[in-house]
Amino acid sequence: MGRKKEIVMSGIRPTGYLHLGNYFGAVRNYVRMQEEYDCFFMVADLHSLTTHPDTKELQDNVRRVLAENIACGLDPDKVALYCQSHVRETAELYLFLNMLAYKGELEKTTTFKDKARLQPDNINAGLLTYPVLQAADILLHRASFVPVGKDQEQHLEMSRNFAKRFNHRYGEIFPEPVAFNFGDDLVKVPSLDGAGKMSKSENQLATLYLSDSDELIRKKVMKAKTDSGPTEPNTPKPDYIENIFSLMQLVSTAEVIQKFESDYDNAQVRYGDLKKQLAEDMVRFIAPIREKAESIRHDDVYLKEVMEKGAAKANASANGTMASVRQLMGLNYY
Ligand code: ADP
Repeated sequence: MGRKKEIVMSGIRPTGYLHLGNYFGAVRNYVRMQEEYDCFFMVADLHSLTTHPDTKELQDNVRRVLAENIACGLDPDKVALYCQSHVRETAELYLFLNMLAYKGELEKTTTFKDKARLQPDNINAGLLTYPVLQAADILLHRASFVPVGKDQEQHLEMSRNFAKRFNHRYGEIFPEPVAFNFGDDLVKVPSLDGAGKMSKSENQLATLYLSDSDELIRKKVMKAKTDSGPTEPNTPKPDYIENIFSLMQLVSTAEVIQKFESDYDNAQVRYGDLKKQLAEDMVRFIAPIREKAESIRHDDVYLKEVMEKGAAKANASANGTMASVRQLMGLNYY
């Protein structure tokens, strides 16, 4: 028998089109991890209800996120690629973990405070307990690694705390999951206006989506904020210029980056040329993914098969964990 592989789990909410942040923070790692680990990747439809209660477009969005993941290179035969709501045990573990989560720590979570500010009329309990549901998704598969972007660091720490509390109270069962990235640091892809991160639902003109047309990519990149350029050699870069260079790091060749870095250091950089180059490199990167996703997205028969296969794998794993959880908690009456 081969060595038992370590378990990986992560998810993306179906709240809009995937963008470069999702790709470089999450999906790129998924694709690399599928070769070496036992992977569970899901479309987090339940999580999306915390901010998007209207479900009219949900099914369409779920199919699109699945198609985009597959277009990025995820292979549904190698991983469990599934929809969160197809695993009913998620709700059961979420309930148990809620008894171990404190109101104070949930209220202090940065993402909760940000989202509560954005939707003051709908600060629902699901929004408050978002990190508990996320911990349930991860612990359900007893995952050790969670490929996510930098914005998720605090949630992962909470998952570890809930795992520790459960293990301490009822018996050792859960590994303490850690955030994972193939580079050294977790990734944060900045938005094109230099304010915050690229995101599915906010800031749409400053976010590059994997579904953007070539023209739209060019338009968005050319509008990125710049200034008249450094007047002296070796001037430190302002944030918004640093951001353009970090986007270039993601899609341009080493020679191109080197050229513009040295132009900048010599106070000779031409931002028009820099942005044109970045736009073309982005188009080269995004266009093939967009075209592949578009062809998969409308293949209902194939996507149904993907979801069924994924649900079967995820349910087998969840059932095993929950049988042990109930037993440890003494909820096995006969
Ligand atoms: P969004 O914030 O766009 O709604 P999700 O909350 O669904 O995205 O997050 C899906 C994954 O994408 C998570 O692992 C998250 O850390 C990652 N992610 C989202 N935005 C960025 C970004 N700008 N840079 C890096 N990673 C990101």
